[in-house]
Amino acid sequence: MGKPHPRRHFLTSLGGAALAVPFGCRGRGATDSLEEESRTTVHKQEPSPGRMPVLFVGHGSPMNVIEDNRWSQGFAALRELIPRPRAILAVSAHWFVDGTYLTDNSRPKTIHDFSGFPRALYEIDYPAPGSVDLAKRVRTMLGEERAALSSEWGLDHGTWSVLRRMYPEANIPVLQLSIHRRLAPARHHELGRSLAELREEGVLILGSGNIVHNLRDAFQRMQTGSTETPDWARRFDDSVQSIVTRHDTKSLLSLWPSDDGRLAHPSPDHWLPLIYAQAATDDRDRVRFPTEGFDMGSVSMRNILFG
Ligand code: ZN
Repeated sequence: MGKPHPRRHFLTSLGGAALAVPFGCRGRGATDSLEEESRTTVHKQEPSPGRMPVLFVGHGSPMNVIEDNRWSQGFAALRELIPRPRAILAVSAHWFVDGTYLTDNSRPKTIHDFSGFPRALYEIDYPAPGSVDLAKRVRTMLGEERAALSSEWGLDHGTWSVLRRMYPEANIPVLQLSIHRRLAPARHHELGRSLAELREEGVLILGSGNIVHNLRDAFQRMQTGSTETPDWARRFDDSVQSIVTRHDTKSLLSLWPSDDGRLAHPSPDHWLPLIYAQAATDDRDRVRFPTEGFDMGSVSMRNILFG
């Protein structure tokens, strides 16, 4: 597919999961003024734009940030399908750590959590504000004993690579919620369910992963020049489409781990963002798939819009 240095991205992805150590803060935070915070606070008393949809995005390669392709055009088109959010709570595959954390930076840094890509990617800043007040409140919703605040992270590429296309103005407050790698899928679902009321307040819950994400398979396919989608990948992607359309939570939670689930996701980091997104929905929500298809043969780029 002509993607530069895919192996390095692959190694970085694995490394990010294995190291599980949030990056150090790079000099922001201490200087953030109260005035700035008040500008970025999400005020509950403001009129609600209605119940926000919930979005799951297949983010794929970081190259989608700088390439004009089917996937990046798909991210941009999502903007037209969603009312303008008051804030965004992102659950990204790339913050997969030993704990449930919420970013509470009033100015979250842009994290370039990949290596070996063109310099232009590292020069991108996505300067969206955060919201300390919203982080505190979401923590309370999750249960203070189950979640903690953290200023050590920021916005990783699972979040900003998509939002830069959707909201290039970067003027909507964005928080990230980490994925606790030691919790069972059902526990993630419980956490996601407790976020649902944020929708009534105009907060967009954004899960960012990929429905099928086996990079070892994808790179082997690239090396042999094959762009063919394997049966197990298509089968898993089709199952997800059918299961989320009928709001079948029990079947969704049975997909990983399973035989196809393990092929689709040797590690569940890119799978679990969907569990959070789906958990915040119910059978009142219409389910749409604004983008479908595979990149690199087996990476599903399916997007799902609930509501
Ligand atoms: Zn990723």
